[in-house]
Amino acid sequence: MKPTFHHRMVNGPFEDPVVYLRLLREKKALLFDAGDVSALSAGEIHKITDVFVTHTHIDHFIGFDRLLRVMLRRERPLRVYGPEGITGSVEGKLRGYAWNLIEEYPVSLVVHEVTDASVSVASFSARDGFRKRLMGDTEWTGVLLNDPLFSVRAACLSHDIAVLGFCIEENMHINIDKAALAGRGLPVGPWLSGFKQAVREGRDDFMAVVEGREYPMGELRDIVRITEGQKVSYVMDVTPSRENMEKVVELVRGSHVLYIETYFLDEERERAFQRNHLTARMAGEIAREAGVKELVPMHISPKYRGSPEMITGEALRAFRGGG
Ligand SMILES: [Zn+2]
Ligand SMILES: [Zn+2]
Repeated sequence: MKPTFHHRMVNGPFEDPVVYLRLLREKKALLFDAGDVSALSAGEIHKITDVFVTHTHIDHFIGFDRLLRVMLRRERPLRVYGPEGITGSVEGKLRGYAWNLIEEYPVSLVVHEVTDASVSVASFSARDGFRKRLMGDTEWTGVLLNDPLFSVRAACLSHDIAVLGFCIEENMHINIDKAALAGRGLPVGPWLSGFKQAVREGRDDFMAVVEGREYPMGELRDIVRITEGQKVSYVMDVTPSRENMEKVVELVRGSHVLYIETYFLDEERERAFQRNHLTARMAGEIAREAGVKELVPMHISPKYRGSPEMITGEALRAFRGGG
């Protein structure tokens, strides 16, 4: 089966951190951080439905204006997710311009502000000059977005200020093997959707009723083909505290790809703590402990511009367990 996610870094490892993720079966894309996005075409920006902002330091948020400008005439709302303060940051950006001639424009923004306890939602619509409307709060469960194809989760981390780490997970594919079904003399029918749901939820005690006969889950295993979904994670700008490291490992566990900051070399550990960033070695150790399959080191301090291989080498050695 073809992968559902296609993802890439928008800029080089020394430039603003941004990851663009396309959902190949839909004309949709997600954006992780909104630093400089001038390398994205208008067509690529139009596909973005959701922007996940780790925090609003300028290198992670300066691209917001370009996103908004390209999307001004679009019908589909843009959803923005970020840590404590994101609503004020979006509002501040919007207040920086005059909007008296855009009442006809359909665009709106829906901002989700995540704290340890709750998600507060606010919307801004071009129709009324982007006035803030509070849409209410819900309890924070760790899940930001639930789509039929995938879900996005976040962890609340710290970087002196609040920061979010993200992961996107494709739902597993459960397919019925039609030949095996026919071989068992079982009909295609509505019972299969209940059965697939039970497989998805791991309910081993499930009993399927087909044409008046009962079939326990164990007897039906050979008619399903399960394909594991992809998982991609994105973690930037994190204080290397034990609490943060544990939360990151839990969030990114089993990722196929982990995009993670490798800001300093480990010989600058002291400085990494002072500046609230990870070292390359720490990033590699996190990926190793979490059983990640591929590590993408990015967001490297410009001081290593002449020797990026020192950073990537250190991260990959720690990842592979070479010391
Ligand atoms: Zn930062
Ligand atoms: Zn940064």
